[in-house]
Amino acid sequence: MAFDAEAIRRDFPILSRQVHGKPLIYLDSAASAQKPRAVIDAMTHAMEYSYANVHRGLHTLANETTDAYEAARRKAAAFIGADENEIVFTKGGTEAVNLVASGIGASLHPGDEIVLSEMEHHANIVPWHFLRERKGVVLKWVPVTDDGQLDLEAYQNLLGPKTRVVALSHMSNVLGTINDAKSLARMAHDVGALVLFDGCQAIVHKPVDVKDIDADFYVFSGHKLYGPTGIGILYGKAEKLAALPPYQGGGEMIGAVSMDEITYADPPHRFEAGTPPILEAIGLGAAIDWLAGQDRLAIAQHEHGLYAHVRERLAGFNWLRVIGEAPGKGAILSFTVDGAHAHDVAQILDRYGVAVRAGTHCAEPLMRRFGVTSSARASFALYNTVEEADAFVDALTKTQAFFA
Ligand code: PMP
Repeated sequence: MAFDAEAIRRDFPILSRQVHGKPLIYLDSAASAQKPRAVIDAMTHAMEYSYANVHRGLHTLANETTDAYEAARRKAAAFIGADENEIVFTKGGTEAVNLVASGIGASLHPGDEIVLSEMEHHANIVPWHFLRERKGVVLKWVPVTDDGQLDLEAYQNLLGPKTRVVALSHMSNVLGTINDAKSLARMAHDVGALVLFDGCQAIVHKPVDVKDIDADFYVFSGHKLYGPTGIGILYGKAEKLAALPPYQGGGEMIGAVSMDEITYADPPHRFEAGTPPILEAIGLGAAIDWLAGQDRLAIAQHEHGLYAHVRERLAGFNWLRVIGEAPGKGAILSFTVDGAHAHDVAQILDRYGVAVRAGTHCAEPLMRRFGVTSSARASFALYNTVEEADAFVDALTKTQAFFA
């Protein structure tokens, strides 16, 4: 059966609204995706019917809420092929990388090397810069080719006996490039390095199996995966999480506390100090259930079809530059319009009801690599349609006329 985007759209109440009197065409899902009814209902139900703090209570509501929170952990684990004790709830992908970097940083020495790439989001750059500033580690950068791929030969040459960590994007939020995580991990492991993948974009568009990839750490955010904000996942191999010191201190992450001594809980609770994002975890669990219930291959084909359709229509536009043309890339279109600032392009498109992002996309090294200060970005999701894709191209053509 063909993928039915119209049926999917009915699950997303927000998609029926208008912007400036035009139907909303939401092409900003790579920044944050809209929420299906299942997520809204799960969070509302928890607040209206079964809510208390987790782990601490002996009363019915505390137990029910704890069950729902831990069920969400099991759903996240099953979704990526992990064990439940390998799943740490964080407040987002950003916090997950910070947790790993600060934990690993404790045992790094001046001159130790961390390999990143030019296509990283700042979330997978800045926490490692902290270690450069504070611990004297050296950051090494895998270059990106003109069409937006990692330069694998250069990557191989950067790896060596001093490499402690490799931290790479599984899918670029600007270029749409999907990296071959499994072989990148194998190469990192060959030199004894730990490997972390930033899966914030990839997890949305393709099934991920962390064991097959052999990632030591894999991070992603809930809100791009059709779940709520304020929740993210850190996957870590059980023995790798066990080797990390605590990140924040507070309730629920301890074994025992006295005035002169402290012991810590085992992972994942060691890394979940204080009251966690309970409702958000429940919402993410609902998002995962909802997505897992869809035909993910059909979704990927649909999204790719939208991208290919738009790319083909744009082919004749000599005033437009597309950034990122890697083979097999995901449905993210970054572009510049000659003579126009990306912010202006986004603002004019908005008048036509089309929501795109513009700016550096929190990827300044990549912007510099491509010689631009900003770009506009249209990202396609499962709820977008061919009609919307065409309306976007038409609106873009009218937008360009302002600058011609
Ligand atoms: N990595 C990538 C590739 C991203 O696209 C984003 C979000 N733009 C992040 C990390 C950070 O995610 P969050 O803001 O949800 O913590």
